[in-house]
Amino acid sequence: MHSDHNTAWSSCLSKIRNDVGDQGFETWFKPIRPLRLDNKVLTIQVPSQFFYEYLEEHYVQLLRNVIDIQLGKDFQLEYSVVVDTGDGSNQPYTINLPNNPSRNTSKGYNSKPEPRREMGSFELFGYDIKLNPSYSFDNFIEGDCNRLARSAGYAVAQRPGVTSFNPLMLYGGVGLGKTHLVQAIGNEIVNGAEKKVVLYVSSEKFANQFFDAIKNNNIQEFSNFYLKVDVLIIDDVQFFEGKEKTQEIFFHIFNHLHQNGSQIIMTSDRPPKDLDGLMERLVSRFKWGLTADLQQPDYETRIAIINRKMQADGIDIPDNVIEYLAYSVDTNIRELEGVIISLIANASLVKKEIDLELAKQTLKSIVHDIDSEVGIDYIQKTVSEFFKVSIDQLKDKTRKKEIVMARQLAMYFSKEYTNLSLKSIGYHFGGRDHSTVIHAVQTVNDLYDTDNNFKKSVDELRKKLKLKSI
Ligand code: ADP
Ligand code: MG
Repeated sequence: MHSDHNTAWSSCLSKIRNDVGDQGFETWFKPIRPLRLDNKVLTIQVPSQFFYEYLEEHYVQLLRNVIDIQLGKDFQLEYSVVVDTGDGSNQPYTINLPNNPSRNTSKGYNSKPEPRREMGSFELFGYDIKLNPSYSFDNFIEGDCNRLARSAGYAVAQRPGVTSFNPLMLYGGVGLGKTHLVQAIGNEIVNGAEKKVVLYVSSEKFANQFFDAIKNNNIQEFSNFYLKVDVLIIDDVQFFEGKEKTQEIFFHIFNHLHQNGSQIIMTSDRPPKDLDGLMERLVSRFKWGLTADLQQPDYETRIAIINRKMQADGIDIPDNVIEYLAYSVDTNIRELEGVIISLIANASLVKKEIDLELAKQTLKSIVHDIDSEVGIDYIQKTVSEFFKVSIDQLKDKTRKKEIVMARQLAMYFSKEYTNLSLKSIGYHFGGRDHSTVIHAVQTVNDLYDTDNNFKKSVDELRKKLKLKSI
């Protein structure tokens, strides 16, 4: 028989380790301290309520079985939860683990930790997360393409967590204003009368933080951080596709926040039903509140956006130029902004007033590649066939080595053989940044010089693209 809590718990641990694997063990079981063993009740201390919930949700059956086997069926487990109140006076309290865990549906607590009162700016594990104050409702132009999303967003900003728009899920293609709109909601709340803790984070940053938390063994700090917010804005959740562990933790945080009446706002580049690599139970939660899409801007909205941008820069341009731009650039607002910036830059370079002629020249050099024999579509098709990857893979976020290489090569050839700007090329590869394209070109150049096999592939591809080697 195990007479003391330490040996009792360590006998349980040895069983648990076999079942949960190293990582699960390090993360969820190593931080547990056995406290006492009295009257067949083993009390263990867990660092927080979140910890307890996570154990309960994921490991309750395992714990029960292990206790049954190692200690006996009449033994009980009790958690003692140390709540981090942030002021050093950590108060433990106790939750019982019932004998029949399947009946344990009601949780006898609802003590939301005191949030930190800072204004939309935080740091976790060296990652800065803050709202960008330049995104506001004021400078978000309303049009048919975004009316529903905007008004739902505005309603949420006035009464976060109170409307039925919880979660609020906004989706739409790249450059259509998702980030702008959700940041505007965040800024509106932060500037409002009620002091709310608002956190904006990209899904990528969230995933990286989580990864670091696992690596450095401070899942605890990670989850506490996210559980303290009144409003969680999480951008581009399509990034969670295929990342099961990250989805698990997000699911948990989502449930906890939602249950406590915190507002959750998310964006995605496609409707929830098309988020293939996400767990069904997560996707179904996304549909609990309101889902609204942002569409490509219509002509009137494009006119209004150009006018607004020019106004903001104090620049006057003729109506026919505005119309020409609005007519020609219909893909998305980011692209439209890019054209406007290039036009202003060109005008100052050649020291000319902006007129139709200059607008046409600018546009020709950055948007269309009509003159070029080899277009970006053709390059993507050729490269994808050559490496046997799909065109979608060239555009998505997969980081598999072969796909990254194919993607970088396709970017490299696009830069070489089309008139597209770096920005535009990035856009055609799933909305990547221009710096990603620069990086791709450099990588290809480096490898071409150092790796013979790689050099062969490049030369062969060049032939396939019906272009002579330089
Ligand atoms: P997404 O997150 O959907 O890719 P962003 O929110 O980053 O798009 O928007 C791209 C650019 O277009 C940003 O500079 C943003 O300010 C601008 N923009 C998007 N929608 C609007 C709008 N309705 N009014 C004014 N500017 C907009
Ligand atoms: Mg965005």
